[in-house]
Formats: sequence, C-alpha cells, structure tokens
Amino acid sequence: MAAQILDGKHAAELTEAELSKRVSSLKARSEGRTPVLATILVGDDPASATYVRMKGNACRRVGMESLAIELPASTSTNGLLKEIEQLNINPDVHGILLQHPVPSPINERACFDMIALEKDVDGVTCHGFGRMAMGEPAYGCATPQGIMRLLAHYGIGIEGLHAVVVGRSPILGKPMAMMMLEANATVTICHSRTRNLESLIRQADIIVGAVGRPEFIRADWVRDGAVVVDAGYHPGGVGDIELGPLTERARAITPVPGGVGPMTINTLIQQTVQSGEKALV
Ligand code: NAP
Repeated sequence: MAAQILDGKHAAELTEAELSKRVSSLKARSEGRTPVLATILVGDDPASATYVRMKGNACRRVGMESLAIELPASTSTNGLLKEIEQLNINPDVHGILLQHPVPSPINERACFDMIALEKDVDGVTCHGFGRMAMGEPAYGCATPQGIMRLLAHYGIGIEGLHAVVVGRSPILGKPMAMMMLEANATVTICHSRTRNLESLIRQADIIVGAVGRPEFIRADWVRDGAVVVDAGYHPGGVGDIELGPLTERARAITPVPGGVGPMTINTLIQQTVQSGEKALV
C-alpha cells in the first residue's frame, strides 16, 4: 500500500493561517505591538543566510516583525554573548534565534545558553532541554518539535512504538529522542559508534534519520509498515534516508523537501507567537 505522505508544507501553511489570526488579535489588544523574533547570523555562510532570510519571511507572512542582527565571522565569543545579553533585556524582543552553526572559534554552547529561557523559542538552551526532558514546560527544540507536531497533525500516535533515532546532535537527535520518550515511545538512539545499525533499524516502528549523510539509511533496512521521518536535506533534493522504494512499503513518510523543513520554521514562529502572547497581554 502507498505510504501516507506527511506533508509538512501543507501543515505549516494551515498553522500559519491560525498564527496570523493570533498575531492580529494580539495587535488589537496591545496597542499595535506584535511578537518580535531577533535573528542572529554570524559570518557569511550562504546556507545559514538563506535559513535566516526564510525565518524572517515567515515572521512577515503571519504579521510579526523580525530584527535581523548580522555579525562578522571575526566576532568573538564575548562579543556574541554581549549581543545576546542586550536582546535578553530588550522588552521589544520576544524570541531569539542564533543561527547554527556559528564559526568554529566561537563557543556556540556558551552562546546558546546565554539566551534567556523565556526567549529561547528555538529550544537550544541546556536549561530548556533539561526542562523538556523532565516533562516541564519549555519551548521545544524547533526541528524535533516540528517533527512531533507533524506526526500529531497526521494523527500518528507514538505511545508504545519502538522509535529508532539515528543521530544524537544537541539540536536534533538528542532532543528528538527525549521528546519521543516523553510521548511514551521505547527509544533507541544510534550514532557513529553504534554497532549493528542495520539490525536496530529493522526493529523500528518509527525511524528518524538525522545523520547528515545523503541517503545513508537504506530502504531495505526499513521494515514494511514503519513510519519514516527524514530530517536530512542535501543537494539534489535527497534526505538522510533512501525514500524512493519506501513510498510503496512504509506506513508514512516525510517527503524531502517539504516534510520536516517547513515544520522547523513553523515551530520557531509558533513559539515566538506564544512568547509574544505571554509578554504582551
Ligand atoms: P550533526 O550535528 O552532524 O550530527 C549527525 C549525527 O549523525 C551525529 O550524532 C553522528 O554521530 C551521527 N552519525 C554520523 N555518522 C553516522 C553513522 N555512520 N552511523 C550512525 N550515526 C552517524 O547533524 P545535525 O545537525 O543533527 O543534522 C542531521 C541532519 O538533519 C542533516 O542532514 C541536516 O541537514 C538535517 N537538519 C535539518 C533541519 C531542518 O530544519 N530540516 C535542521 C537541522 C538539521 P556522533 O554523535 O557519534 O558523531
């Protein structure tokens, strides 16, 4: 049977329509003020610049404002920490996005952790991660939270399933695994030192590919009827999983592009609206 397509572009468009209404209503109740997302781009990596531009555009589509901060690649850790400190105390800023990755001499973890918890709408701080992992309120890390929202949108329950997450990065694999655990899945986390990856993937009811290597997870490792979530995106429009043959065999798949990507940005925007609502009314 053909797999259900988990269309993130469509789900994100539906949510944007709802977010536009929330922003208008907030504006009406707060003397014309809207939520503001501050974006910080360090250096001149073209892919990062594109992502930041897409996030600013998404703000505008729902009637929100963004404040774009661009810093040279030579910025020091201290310089970046000071910028974030200023945004933390700026009452007109409700969310802060530090585009990952920052140039390597900068201590990215220290900079992420400088972001005030209530403005951590991208869900990158250790504090937010810890709270989420303990089941306490916190903004979820945008990509895995977007995946959870996409699964919920299509009514895919996770409870009791064996989820295999391939990748354990701080912004994707680790928070993904914790979110799945919080949703009562049984979770296996795989990484570059995992032995017998193929056999672990064969046991999965739900697979999340977050490896960063084009079509690394082969279709014939995936059992019939599994839910397949591909977080990767590479030139040529392929992800981290060989999706082609799975469109006939899986229960559901996220397309690449148009699956996880749009939900990441949508989650960032949704969480900024939530933060704005808390601060402005
Ligand atoms: P990352 O930081 O490079 O992490 C990759 C992970 O894959 C690491 O945990 C690594 O293990 C693991 N890995 C590498 N080789 C492996 C192997 N042979 N077997 C098993 N695991 C292996 O990447 P990331 O930032 O998490 O991104 C992962 C993918 O998601 C990329 O394709 C990226 O483009 C995509 N992504 C998409 C979005 C979006 O919005 N759609 C956002 C972020 C990332 P170790 O920890 O042992 O090194």
